[in-house]
Amino acid sequence: MEHYQDIRDAVARLCARFPGEYWRALDRDMTYPGEFVAALTQAGWLSILIPEAYDGSGLPLSAAAAVLEEIQRAGCNGGACHAQMYTMGTLVRHGSEAQKQRYLPKVATGELRLQAFGVTEPSSGTDTGALKTTARLDGDHFVVKGQKIWTSRAEHSDLMLLLARTTPLKDGMKKTDGLSVLIVDMREAVGNGLTIRPIRTMMNHATTEVFFDDLRVPVENLIGEEGKGFRYILSGMNAERILIAAECIGDAKWFIEKASTYAKERHVFGRAIGQNQGIQFPIARAYANMRAAELMVRQALSLYEAGKNPGAEANMAKMLAADASNEAANVCIQTYGGFGFAEEYDVERKFRETRLYQVAPISTNLILSYLSEHVLGLPRSY
Ligand SMILES: Cc1cc2nc3c(=O)[nH]c(=O)nc-3n(C[C@H](O)[C@H](O)[C@H](O)COP(=O)(O)OP(=O)(O)OC[C@H]3O[C@@H](n4cnc5c(N)ncnc54)[C@H](O)[C@@H]3O)c2cc1C
Repeated sequence: MEHYQDIRDAVARLCARFPGEYWRALDRDMTYPGEFVAALTQAGWLSILIPEAYDGSGLPLSAAAAVLEEIQRAGCNGGACHAQMYTMGTLVRHGSEAQKQRYLPKVATGELRLQAFGVTEPSSGTDTGALKTTARLDGDHFVVKGQKIWTSRAEHSDLMLLLARTTPLKDGMKKTDGLSVLIVDMREAVGNGLTIRPIRTMMNHATTEVFFDDLRVPVENLIGEEGKGFRYILSGMNAERILIAAECIGDAKWFIEKASTYAKERHVFGRAIGQNQGIQFPIARAYANMRAAELMVRQALSLYEAGKNPGAEANMAKMLAADASNEAANVCIQTYGGFGFAEEYDVERKFRETRLYQVAPISTNLILSYLSEHVLGLPRSY
């Protein structure tokens, strides 16, 4: 599997134009990093997974993982745009030729932003099959009614991939059947049945809740077959988990680098704090855990690229990498002492940002449940 050093260097050079001051100012006002996302788009980094036939670079998932890891490693935040990398897979794999021709070349140039992914709902949470948003067929349109929550980047995206129930649940039916994926063109929809409300969170993540009030979506925007949407979304989840894991590895590297540098420079009691094993060892342990998680990310990537279905490895990579970044964040703030809490060092901001990956896009408990059931053969717990 390639390391993509050339891509890593180029992304690092781009990220150097967006230093801590840039992110701090946005964080203070909870503003979207539009210039950063535009720069990534113009440089072609957000379209590397789009096949060449649709004007992307057609590179494998490990190239996308290299891009996202380097963004985080540089202290930037790919959360503003990472969804395009994985939501697009649903369209590439299951969209019709006409849909791909219509959207992908424009997504590649940045004319269309495909950053919003509407799955989670307030009442169903992780239990996706229990979602309540419906899309009822009416002539040549679906009429969508319901609500999504945590639809990130909805205000900064032109298109949304929406999962809604198109066939009502009946007795004996699997609850993940009867769901369909629709492409919602939000440029036309906002104010015509679609309302977006931002949610303020502990980090700057541009997340929202979205309300559908008889929104009309043309039938031609249905991806693949009606009722099979849950499978299409599932088929993209390995990629999603692996890419988020790569981001967490980037975060962990940033924290470890920051902590090591600070531990060498900060002198207390007449010597560098990093001379104390009480400071060294937690950093060294965080490093070892990051490297172990990185190996799992690589294993998941190589299985994925060999056309396998690395459900277990993708889940483990995500969990271990999120744990590694969380540990490194904690160690970094401890190494900085009081200064870790001061905005100007970026540690507290990154600490808040990386915490998310214990919960989203899949929480640690659900990964453990997956491993228990599907790898260890233990009884399903829910
Ligand atoms: C900032 C942010 C951005 C997000 N962006 C998006 C997005 O763009 N699109 C989207 O669709 N969603 C998005 N999400 C939603 C995210 O995927 C969910 O928050 C996550 O999957 C957890 O679901 P929940 O919040 O409903 O938690 P719940 O399902 O309510 O679970 C709450 C807690 O209970 C635990 N739990 C639940 N069931 C079990 C069980 N059976 N066994 C053990 N523990 C259990 C969970 O692990 C969790 O810790 C985002 C969330 C956040 C916070």
